[in-house]
Amino acid sequence: MQKEWWENAVFYYIYVRSFQDSDGNGVGDLAGIISRLDYISQLGVDGIRLSPIFESPDQDFGYDISDYYAVHHDLGDANTFDLLIEQAHNRGLKVILDMVVTHTSDSHPWFVDSSTDAESAYSKYYLWEDTVPNNWMSAFGGKGWSFHQKRNQYYFHSFFAFQPDLNWQNSQVAEEFKAVLRHWYDLGVDGIHLAYVNGLTKDASLRNNPVSLGTKPYAYSMQRHIFDRNRPETYPRLLDLRHIADSYETDRLLCGDILYEMPGEPELAAAYIGRDSDMLHLSFDASLLHVRFSAAHWRRVAKRWYEAIGSKRTPAWTLNNHDLSRFSSRVRGNEDKMRLAALFLLTQRGTIFLYYGEELGLQNSRVALKKKQDPLGKRFWPFHRGRDLARGPMVWSTGKGSGFTTGKSWLEVTPSANYFSVENQELEQDSMLNFYRAMIALRDADPVLQRGICDFLTCNNPAILAYTRILGDEQRLIILNMSGRSQPCTLLSFLLKDGVKVRARFSTHSIERETGSGESVYLLAPYQGIIFAVISQSLKSKSS
Ligand code: BGC
Repeated sequence: MQKEWWENAVFYYIYVRSFQDSDGNGVGDLAGIISRLDYISQLGVDGIRLSPIFESPDQDFGYDISDYYAVHHDLGDANTFDLLIEQAHNRGLKVILDMVVTHTSDSHPWFVDSSTDAESAYSKYYLWEDTVPNNWMSAFGGKGWSFHQKRNQYYFHSFFAFQPDLNWQNSQVAEEFKAVLRHWYDLGVDGIHLAYVNGLTKDASLRNNPVSLGTKPYAYSMQRHIFDRNRPETYPRLLDLRHIADSYETDRLLCGDILYEMPGEPELAAAYIGRDSDMLHLSFDASLLHVRFSAAHWRRVAKRWYEAIGSKRTPAWTLNNHDLSRFSSRVRGNEDKMRLAALFLLTQRGTIFLYYGEELGLQNSRVALKKKQDPLGKRFWPFHRGRDLARGPMVWSTGKGSGFTTGKSWLEVTPSANYFSVENQELEQDSMLNFYRAMIALRDADPVLQRGICDFLTCNNPAILAYTRILGDEQRLIILNMSGRSQPCTLLSFLLKDGVKVRARFSTHSIERETGSGESVYLLAPYQGIIFAVISQSLKSKSS
């Protein structure tokens, strides 16, 4: 099978409002991204993925789109967008745009029209009912049906009331989005990422979701969402969108994510790729964003994702996104854990998504209650801290505004974040930034790390996570000590017989052998990870 450009690629995901402000209004923008393309390209990544850039009243910062054809007035315009595509492509960087198509903003002209006039052409673009028909809820709390005075009916919203869900059973809606996708692909966009694809269609008979025990003590989690999301009717709709992507001579990517039950639903995420890769090209499993930091947990989560995806499709991997606490903060700023996690991430088969600032070890931003921007954080404080924490301004330098803005940042700059600045890390050979660069370069130069089959090895020591990557005759052995204690590790337990030669290719710490115990007993420092190339002989095939 021919390799697609996005398979095994590394993408840099940018929360646009917080990356680089070019005009001093405190909001990151497209011109700002253009000015940082050299930095991105020097990271060694293959492309960028941008949080929604479309016109929006910003009640949920771009996740409430009011015009799918226009660039948000704060972020740039059509010309800046063209320039971004051109400049990114000049550097060999692909561009993926995030788009929300399950709902619009309530100020989108379709909804304004639909809500004013039951006879309008857009009347059936949304889900309207005379009375609340079922128990469906909003994932952000409360009832999913809200009353609209003008139309004198209830409409459904999976999230906030200002985000009415579209009626994707209506083929006119599907046609609208085919045109939207064509528009952006025609402009040179390489990929489109659709948010919440498993919520696209709903049960046509509007049946009640069954009540269940749930994974979290929230009313929303105490329903099995088999009628308001995860509907089979979504598959043909995605197939149609996929045909648009496939109609281009140079391949265009269609990817997306799902709303999931905690701690992640890899099988469900995989279902949206289709058995023959016939819906999305890529989808995301979120298990790694929630799992405890331990060898057993990471092995379980990764194996399950590989098994769900199978060998013909491509898994996407990420540690961070714009909704959740940053990985660096989940491990309480432990740099060793961050490096080990990066080594794990960048030695997986498939497509890797890094989140801006991750390469610096940037931690959650701290935003005072009064200065919170995220509507979720404002509404549910103190039960929900909100998502501002993952969206803090990028720290380029130690000066005022962190090099992000010369004005007043839309989201408070955490002063202590300056410690992580690019400026500081450029000066330090052993910085997190240089570690990421080295890891990406290593992956880039090694097809085995990109495409080799991953096989998890059985290990008697519960602190050690070990796996091989195998491509043809070439093998890599990767060993991670996921504990805070030094661990002896006998390579022999992974090798067929004595005498097999391995050569360390990369390590997070200096490599030490246990004295007097022969060549193959390594003493792994706390959170040390090593990548070995196997020079001769095969490894035991230990996959379970
Ligand atoms: C996004 C959230 C957003 C929600 C509602 C999710 O897919 O990740 O950031 O608030 O959709 O649009």
